[in-house]
Amino acid sequence: MSRFWSSVVHSLVPYVPGEQPKVDNLVKLNTNENPYPPSPQVIAAIQAASNADLRLYPDPDAQILKTTLADYYHVNFNQVFVGNSSDEVLAHVFQALLKQEEPLLFPDITYSFYPVYCGLYGIDYRAIPLRADFSLDIDAYRVPLGAIIFPNPNAPTGRYLPLVEIEALLKRYSDRLLVVDEAYIDFGGESAVTLVNRYDNLLVVQTLSKSRSLAGLRVGFAIGHADLIAGLERVKNSFNSYPLDRLAIAGAVAAFQDQDYFLQTRSMVMAERARLVTALEAMGFEVIPSMANFVFVQHVRYAADQLAAALRNYQVIVRHFKQPRIDNYLRISVGSAEQNDALLAAMHTILVNEGV
Ligand SMILES: *Cc1c(COP(=O)(O)O)cnc(C)c1O
Repeated sequence: MSRFWSSVVHSLVPYVPGEQPKVDNLVKLNTNENPYPPSPQVIAAIQAASNADLRLYPDPDAQILKTTLADYYHVNFNQVFVGNSSDEVLAHVFQALLKQEEPLLFPDITYSFYPVYCGLYGIDYRAIPLRADFSLDIDAYRVPLGAIIFPNPNAPTGRYLPLVEIEALLKRYSDRLLVVDEAYIDFGGESAVTLVNRYDNLLVVQTLSKSRSLAGLRVGFAIGHADLIAGLERVKNSFNSYPLDRLAIAGAVAAFQDQDYFLQTRSMVMAERARLVTALEAMGFEVIPSMANFVFVQHVRYAADQLAAALRNYQVIVRHFKQPRIDNYLRISVGSAEQNDALLAAMHTILVNEGV
């Protein structure tokens, strides 16, 4: 604390990211990173961009990346916004679009950055309970609302809301913005991007951190009606003209050009997810149906915090949230086959020895 802190700084309750341990040889299944490396074409593009031009500012508009994304998602250039991670894109979305007369609505169990942005930008919000099975009940949103945001699939549950329900919300609240945070959409869901040309009240946010194996590069984007994007550009250009550096732009473009690699790695993640679900269920876990690159599980007998602590003794790190309704669940990222084997072996030993 300092006497120089503004009152806003005093009131902030910052987001706590998953641990990034400094030691090697850990089976790190706590932050939903992709277990596979980025495409070799991404590495090559970043290496090629590591040249004397780094003395120059990057393109403030990241035009080549926006064009790549517009082509990939079959939208116009002016319907694409890019930023330094989807967290940054989301921050601009909250400031530019989600502060309205009536409260912003999001699920009671969801990405814990949302209430943090509300605190930062002074946005009134209301948490709408998920059903007991953690599915999202669109009828629970029949309350006064300024806007809605949720991830699809949701985090940390992994549950997916079918597009027809998203479309029902868009029709019902045609003068309210719906933001769909699709950080995990590539692992089996259907993107709402296909709806943006029919609904001007829809904004879709995505990231290259999960399905493109680029959490370290920090690239995110949003797609929606050109007027929504123009609002985001106003905030971005009042904050940082150059959010994406030259290496990030080059790597991100290459990631969308190597479709084969993307399809191959995501199907490996999905196949490993299926294997993990079967094995965990056989060990007495209840597994929430997941369309993401993680599973959300609770054991019929053992407490989640004790299991997480026991796994740590085997160098396996998973995520536990000390939060009402979900404090007996573990969120386990889908790792490589070897990582998942290590997790399952450690879990088996713990459960057999009742070593919790
Ligand atoms: C991981 C995640 C993000 C953040 O992605 P970055 O682009 O790495 O900032 C946003 N929303 C949800 C729901 C996430 O799980």
